[in-house]
Amino acid sequence: MSKPNTPQTAHREHFDVVIVGAGISGIGAAYHLTSQCPKHSFVVLEGYESFGGTWHIHKYPGIRSDSDLYTFGYRFKPWTGNPIASGEQILQYLGEVIEENDLASHIRYRHRVERAHWSSEEGVWTLEARQQHTGKVVRLSCNFLWMCQGYYRHAEGYTPDWEGMDSFEGQIVHPQTWPEDLEFAGKRVIVIGSGATAATLVPAIASKTEKVTMLQRSPTYFYAGPNRNELADELRELEIDEAWIHEIARRRILKNQAAVARACVDQPDNMKKLLIAGITPYLPQEFDVGKHFTPRYRPWQQRIAFVPNGDLFRAVASGDASVVTDEIARFTKKGLLLASGTELEADLIITATGFDLSILGDIALTIDGAPANLADQVTYRGMMFTQIPNLLWIFGYFRASWTLRVDLLCDFTCRLLNHMRAHGHRKVEVALRSQDGTMPLLPWVDTEDFSPNYLLRSMHLLPKRGDKPEWQHTQDYWHERDELPTIDLEGPEFHYR
Ligand SMILES: Cc1cc2nc3c(=O)[nH]c(=O)nc-3n(C[C@H](O)[C@H](O)[C@H](O)COP(=O)(O)OP(=O)(O)OC[C@H]3O[C@@H](n4cnc5c(N)ncnc54)[C@H](O)[C@@H]3O)c2cc1C
Repeated sequence: MSKPNTPQTAHREHFDVVIVGAGISGIGAAYHLTSQCPKHSFVVLEGYESFGGTWHIHKYPGIRSDSDLYTFGYRFKPWTGNPIASGEQILQYLGEVIEENDLASHIRYRHRVERAHWSSEEGVWTLEARQQHTGKVVRLSCNFLWMCQGYYRHAEGYTPDWEGMDSFEGQIVHPQTWPEDLEFAGKRVIVIGSGATAATLVPAIASKTEKVTMLQRSPTYFYAGPNRNELADELRELEIDEAWIHEIARRRILKNQAAVARACVDQPDNMKKLLIAGITPYLPQEFDVGKHFTPRYRPWQQRIAFVPNGDLFRAVASGDASVVTDEIARFTKKGLLLASGTELEADLIITATGFDLSILGDIALTIDGAPANLADQVTYRGMMFTQIPNLLWIFGYFRASWTLRVDLLCDFTCRLLNHMRAHGHRKVEVALRSQDGTMPLLPWVDTEDFSPNYLLRSMHLLPKRGDKPEWQHTQDYWHERDELPTIDLEGPEFHYR
């Protein structure tokens, strides 16, 4: 795998590994490569002018994590703040990881990868990246392409095409492309959506607007509580080392989450009652919790967003915010006409309606000249794909913190890279085994188990999964934590050359 400045690659820069994306996944990959594969050369290509991905792009008021930073932080760098962090705090944490580990010199910003060609003859990927500031296309090559580009389209969020949108005389804004100078003070604002973004935005702007209404088609589960981790705080009082506190707090949170996940499957009705009982005390007595905060789906089929200090519910209780559960019939000049016949007037409508899935960063992949259609392939444990050699995609957990899977997949990737180098392999590809011939091919994830809209809309574009452990995409941290480190890299599903 090392340094093949062959005649074919001599005219372009060559690396052992190219990491696409400098978000949480890409920075994690760069850290693990430097510590676990110190002899591998690598570069991180990032389309934006700075690091952070999700946390660089999203600039709406109140932007914060919805899962705790003891597990959303990396296992190797202690988190020392409150469990739910602002976007700014997350960026600061990531900046420290870059600085403390000398990663800056490996990152090339404003390089958006547009094409990647695999050549079996050369055993390398050739990438074309457009420099965003010059428009110039840069070509470089690598042996291994490490896709850390996230899972949604960054340039623009998803907004449904509602009738009459053009006739609305106010302003329509998607939180993903929040204008820095957006005026909302004193305005009548509607936030369409009920996910974590809406739940963050509504309390963040409520006291400044004339009125803010959260308009949802159907309710979402939330978990409310103080934004602190008592165990970590107590250990801090005892002057325990931060690295220990991080590890202990993580273990406690993960143990609790495992119990919650199990209870959501085994006793969904009880969990539903518990979650709803947890938010009810924040709301006025006459509030219709059944209508506005009692979802139709089972808990854990979507991520349960944490609402620190119940701020969303407090904003509703104070009268600064209200919740309407109804369908949009169409936009009008003045606002929204709802299916119930009510018209909601607004000066500003915020469409917190989610995002569009982006498969492999919208990069055009070709394998020996032929387009690689990911939807035709089978995934190896939700990270590699049949017929696509020397490529691994970091797709984190949806329900547990994304980063838990980043650390696990980084360990796996580094082990694979070291294995290849030790055995002189230049190419690895996963392939179905003879016993997999009759295996049913299923959608990327089990929608009975997990069903966010952005996945449902794009499932046909994603690779298939099988029903055997190697070809499943379990999204189960507790299972993968034990299984991934024990994978036999010489198993029959791995083909090397
Ligand atoms: C508002 C919001 C809040 C969230 N909160 C949480 C949370 O609390 N907990 C949790 O677990 N998850 C959360 N998530 C999910 C979150 O996206 C992930 O946890 C995590 O930040 C993803 O990191 P990533 O590095 O994989 O991808 P991203 O953050 O999406 O970063 C990918 C990077 O790759 C770059 N890139 C993409 N394509 C290319 C290309 N072709 N060429 C060059 N560069 C490219 C992008 O510019 C970007 O910088 C949240 C998501 C959103 C949108």
